[in-house]
Amino acid sequence: MSKLLLTFCVLAVALWLWQAARRKTQQLRRQQNQARQAVRHGPPPPADQMVPCAVCGSHLPAASAHRQGGRSYCPEHAPGGAARR
Ligand SMILES: [Zn+2]
Repeated sequence: MSKLLLTFCVLAVALWLWQAARRKTQQLRRQQNQARQAVRHGPPPPADQMVPCAVCGSHLPAASAHRQGGRSYCPEHAPGGAARR
């Protein structure tokens, strides 16, 4: 009887480990896809579209946003201190 219980426990642990590994792999794949899309820049959004700043989250017209690495920044948070005065 105890052998049966032990077998069941081992199977349960193995199943749990397998599912955890699978979940981790899927999460990793999703992150890689997101990173790939971020690197791919893509076409800039239409000029009248509002985009959020990647730093402060404030929305501004895409035409006046600084774009780098697929992200948009307001003039205040543009990478490289691009705030021109
Ligand atoms: Zn900002």
